Order: sequence, then structure tokens, then C-alpha cells
Amino acid sequence: MTSTLPAAATAAPTAHPPLTDDQLNALRTRLGADRVRRGVRLAQYTSFRIGGPADAFHIARSADELARAIVVARELGIPHFVLGLGANILVGDRGYRGLVIRNAARHVRFRESGDGCRLWAESGAIMQDLVLDSVERGWSGLEHYIGIPSTVGGAIWQNLHFLSPAPERERTMFIAEVFDSCEILSEEGERKVVDADYVQFGYDDTIFHHRRDVVLSATFRLERGDPDRLHRILHENLSWRGARHPWLQIHPSAGSIFKKIEGVGAGRLVDQAGLKGHRHGGAQISPLHANIVVNRGNATAKDVRELIAIAQRAVEEKFGQRLEPEIGFIGEF
Ligand SMILES: Cc1cc2nc3c(=O)[nH]c(=O)nc-3n(C[C@H](O)[C@H](O)[C@H](O)COP(=O)(O)OP(=O)(O)OC[C@H]3O[C@@H](n4cnc5c(N)ncnc54)[C@H](O)[C@@H]3O)c2cc1C
Repeated sequence: MTSTLPAAATAAPTAHPPLTDDQLNALRTRLGADRVRRGVRLAQYTSFRIGGPADAFHIARSADELARAIVVARELGIPHFVLGLGANILVGDRGYRGLVIRNAARHVRFRESGDGCRLWAESGAIMQDLVLDSVERGWSGLEHYIGIPSTVGGAIWQNLHFLSPAPERERTMFIAEVFDSCEILSEEGERKVVDADYVQFGYDDTIFHHRRDVVLSATFRLERGDPDRLHRILHENLSWRGARHPWLQIHPSAGSIFKKIEGVGAGRLVDQAGLKGHRHGGAQISPLHANIVVNRGNATAKDVRELIAIAQRAVEEKFGQRLEPEIGFIGEF
């Protein structure tokens, strides 16, 4: 089946030439001979389990290593991409022409005093681990985000959000609410600590969508919480998600595929266009949630992009509404 690809999906992917041997060797000289691998398949590093090889692949194990890898790539003029858990992206079947830096900088420190706590974490730390560690120590603020696959860097990039605790669930809570500050490597190459004014948190939006700054670490403000209440929120949120969303371990996905449409719901439009459960190649619009595309085992990035286009066309024809993809399209398709 041929499809017209969505504008947002065609605009974003890179079209760089393959990395030369000289460039790869230069990366190895600067970052370590055994620290830069060639041709690593990215599927294993994304929640969609889709994506071709990266010309060069480096795992940064500390904030300093992350900063260094970016500085080196910038100095060598090599295209690069910072990869967290890969939970909000679709990587092309032909992979990425340049250096993918997987952020595994995961050092964490709790600075506890009286009824307050400052949690400092490197940006590759996994939110789920921070949620569980905080709750274990009786600190409140991160419990709402249980079950969302994300690094700290991805959470700030996105302004991670979820519905407030049951039973009310009357508003969306944002990671911005517990954000204190973060250290960045700016687009201009400066390492500095910035506050919320700099980050400009919005809905699925921050300054990091618009500038090539990279988050190196972040500090969150937590408060003393009643342990029973914190545990209840963990259970209720996991149950709520489990009942409504496909399970990532069984049906790989990148979460919501289309941006929110205020008052209507992108998923509802896809559903009302008759596409819930629709399969295209190995990709499927989840029978559980029409705003989530799942990989049924052997989906390619092409399958997913074509399915996105099918949904866009159907919704536009039926309701005159344009669905915009929420996920990032990375590399060559
Ligand atoms: C099953 C499922 C459920 C989800 N549910 C929710 C939900 O309830 N709420 C919600 O808000 N999101 C949700 N998401 C989306 C996803 O979890 C978030 O977008 C998450 O923040 C992505 O983090 P990541 O580390 O995987 O980022 P990646 O997908 O690896 O990267 C996403 C973008 O962030 C950039 N980035 C990553 N790290 C940094 C850094 N250190 N500095 C600067 N830029 C960086 C990347 O370059 C890329 O452009 C869900 C996803 C899935 C798969």
C-alpha cells in the first residue's frame, strides 16, 4: 500500500552522509577506542523495538561523559543524537548517520533535611527508579509518574505529565511542579545551572525542543509524604494505566502517537474513524487505546509511518481535523 507520509514525519528525519572511517577513528581517539561502536542496531534501545543501525554508538556513563561526547561530536562536526530510553521516538529502518549517545549517566543523591528533600540525579537516571527510591524514603512528588518509561533528561525535555491521583483525577500534574533546577550544556557550549524560567515548561514542550541544549543533571524538590498514601498512588496509577493502555512488555510502543487535541481527544477521532485495531504490516492501532500504535512483533518504521498517514487521512476526511504526530522521527527512513 502506498501512503502519503505526514508532513511532520517527513520533515524531521536527517539526511546526512554515512560517517567516514576517518570520522569514526577521530571519535574513537577522543572518546576511547572501545567506547565507540559501529553499526549498533537501535531497535533494542527504543520502547517501540524498531530502528536500524547507528553509524557510531557511545554510552555515556556520567554527566561529564555525556557533556564530553557532545563537545567532541560538535568539534568534529558530526551529527549526534542524545538517546534516553527511546520511549518517545521512532527510529528509521535505515538507522542514524552520525553518533548516537545513549545516556546512561545515572548517579543520584538525596539531600534530606527535615521535611524537605532535594533529589539530584544525572539525566540518564531512570524515572521509575527515582519514583520507587523516593517513595521508599517517604518523599512525595514523583509518585504520580510511576509506570512512564523515561530518563530524567527525557522527562524534562517533555515536561512529563500524568493525571492527578485517584479518585479525583481532575487535573494533569507535570514534572515542572517538582522541578528545582538543572545543569545543562548549552547550545553555545557553556555548562550552567538553569531554573524553570529558562526551561519554559509547557504542555509537551520546553526550551529543549527549540535549542540544542542538553540536560546533564536535574534537581527535584520533594516533600515528606504519608507512606500509605504514596503506595496507594503507585497502585492506583499502575492499575489505571494497566486497564487502559497496552502493556509495553507485550506490545512495544512509543506511547501516544498524536498530539492532544483539546476537548476532542486524538484517540477518540481515530476510534470514530473506525481504525481501532487496524493493522498495517506489523504495526497496529491498539485495540485498547486508539492513540497508541503498537509493534505486533515485526513492525518496521515504514509500517508505523504508513499507519500514521492512514489515520491522518481518515480523520481529516471524516472530521476535517489534522492529527499531528507527537513522537520524534529520528534518522533515515
Ligand atoms: C508506554 C508509554 C507510556 C507513556 N506515557 C506517558 C505519560 O503518561 N506521560 C508522558 O508525559 N509521556 C508518556 N510517554 C512518553 C515518554 O515516556 C516520554 O516522552 C519520556 O519523557 C521519554 O523519555 P526518554 O528518556 O525515553 O526520551 P527519548 O525518547 O530517548 O528522547 C526523546 C527526546 O528527548 C531528547 N532528550 C533525551 N534526553 C535528553 C537530555 N538529557 N537533554 C536534552 N534532550 C534530551 C531526545 O534527544 C529526544 O529528542 C509514554 C511512552 C510510552 C512508551
